[in-house]
Parts: sequence; C-alpha cells; structure tokens
Amino acid sequence: MIIAIKPGTAQEDIKNFTALLERRGVKVHYSAGTSQTVLGLVGDTTGISEESLQAHHLVEKVVRVQEPYKRANRAFHPLDTRIDIPVAGGQVRSIGAGSLGIMAGPCSVETREQIVGIANSVKQSGATFLRGGAFKPRSSPYSFQGLGCEGMDLLLEAKKETGLPIVTELMAIHQLELFDEVDIVQVGARNMQNFTLLKELGRCHKPILLKRGYACTITELLMAAEYIMAGGNDQIILCERGIRSFDNFTRNTLDLSAIPALKRKSHLPVIVDPSHATGLAWMVPTMAKAAIAAGADGLIIEVHNNPEEALCDGEQSITPDAFDSLMTVLRKYAALEEKII
Ligand code: PEP
Ligand code: MN
Repeated sequence: MIIAIKPGTAQEDIKNFTALLERRGVKVHYSAGTSQTVLGLVGDTTGISEESLQAHHLVEKVVRVQEPYKRANRAFHPLDTRIDIPVAGGQVRSIGAGSLGIMAGPCSVETREQIVGIANSVKQSGATFLRGGAFKPRSSPYSFQGLGCEGMDLLLEAKKETGLPIVTELMAIHQLELFDEVDIVQVGARNMQNFTLLKELGRCHKPILLKRGYACTITELLMAAEYIMAGGNDQIILCERGIRSFDNFTRNTLDLSAIPALKRKSHLPVIVDPSHATGLAWMVPTMAKAAIAAGADGLIIEVHNNPEEALCDGEQSITPDAFDSLMTVLRKYAALEEKII
C-alpha cells in the first residue's frame, strides 16, 4: 500500500503518522521527493482500511498495490485448487485443475417423480452432480418458496437412487443441520454478501458453491470467498451467474470475462450458471459452450422434465433431451480444452 502525504506536511507530523502505522504491524518505507513525501507500507496490510487512511488529515492519496484478499489470491497459491467430493464406492468427483463439474437439475424440487426422474436422466447424459432447491429465495413472498425439509428428503432420495452427489442452496445458517448429507452447499446470489452467513460457513467442513451477487464486482466476490476461507474452510467454488445491466433482453448479463478475471486473480475453481444468466432456455446451450471455451471449470444448468409447468424458472430450464444433446457437444469442447468431465 502506498500513501502520498499532503505537500507541506511537517516532518514531525509524518514521524508521528509513521509510528501510528507501525503500531498496526507494518514496516514503513519513507521516500521524500521534491514536492511530495510518499510512504510505502510493507507487510500484511489486510487489516488496514484504505478508507480510514484516506480520511486522515495528512493523507492526500492511498493506493493499494496488492489485493485485500490473501487466501483466495493466486499470488499466495499459484496452483489451481481442485475440490474433490467423495462419492459412493470410494470414488471422488473433482472440480478445478483440469476437471469439469457438471451440475444439472431443476430449479426447485417439486415431487418425488420429478426429482428422481430428472436425476436419472441427467446422470445418464453425464452430469456429475444433481442440483435442486429445497429452500428457494423468491422475489415475491407469494411465489412458491420450495418444499423445505420435504424437498431435502426427496433430494436425498434422488441421491440414494442415482449415486449423484447433490448441490442445494442454504438460505440461513439454522438450516445447516439439514445439510449433513448434502455434498455442496450453495450460497445464492442474494446471500453473497451476507457476512454473518459466510463467517458461519467458514467453520463448516463442506464445499461451498458461492454465486456472484448480481450487483457485485469481481473483487467483492473474492472478498466473500475470503470471508469463508478466513474461517478455515478453503473448499470454495466460485460461480458467475450473470449480473444486472441496462439491457433486459436476457434476465441478467453473463459476464464471460469474469472467468479469466477470476482465474487470473484466484486459484479457486470457477463455474458458470448459463440458466440464471440468460433466463432463456434456448440460449443456455450456446452460453454453456462459451463458458467452457472461456476456461470455466464447470457448469450449473437448470433441467426440467416439463418446463412449461415448472413451479420455478421454467422459461430458463432445458429439457432432459436438450441437456443430453448439450453434453455430447460439451464432451468435445472439454477434449479441446484438455479437460475431463
Ligand atoms: C438458483 O440456483 O436456483 C438460484 C436461485 O440462483 P441465484 O442465487 O444465482 O439467483
Ligand atoms: Mn432457478
């Protein structure tokens, strides 16, 4: 971190300010130019807030040279992180470092037939995880809120029947007691900056799928991951799921550039959700291919056996047949990228 001191500041004041900074655990390099003094902070500056420094009466400008996230930062962990999820038979399903994770299933669990039927079809087509929401964050309190505990039981039945590991959303920390057999805990876009929840998840030992908030920057997403990692849980999968922009042709705007950006800045795996990003079933296969071509480590795709009658997000859900055709193409893309599904 570099601090430019206001011109004309007395040496005595700079000395006192330097002592204050050193008390916060950093070394201070002093450099006096003809018109301006610059202080360079060396050491762990994560606990020093730029805003509070900027507010100091001696400070003209503060520039952070290193990112405020450490654990999620590739600079401190150059190799790609791979998340290994144990499945039946002593095998693992991996995401990251050359392995693609393909999560597929309905937006929400509706009935036993629906979730088990979809689970069997997507497994047949090559999905490596089953998705499905039991607790749903809906914009309207009058919309279907998910089946809750019953939905969780049905999801677990589908897991038992197919052997597919499951990913499902947790909306509040008290729900965690129901997540014992859940393989990946999803933190939805609306909760990406629920810092109390993130801190609690830092203490749990399950992989977390962290979705990007729809008005959040790349750095904010990485800081959200840092919250979980600072608590001791480093099994995080980042998910780009579209952000809000001025155009409403698509439900959100898929920020494909987030994939190389996140992978450059962080070692964590990055997956893409083309369903919530576009809101349009017909566009999902195209954007799924684009995401893999841009270097994503996997996808989370909404698949429904009867999209027209889905209780949630039917217009963006592809059919099991469409998912099957997509998987055929994705295997070719994966081979081109030298990745395995
Ligand atoms: C979902 O995956 O069904 C969901 C609600 O996603 P998001 O949090 O990205 O909107
Ligand atoms: Mn959905």
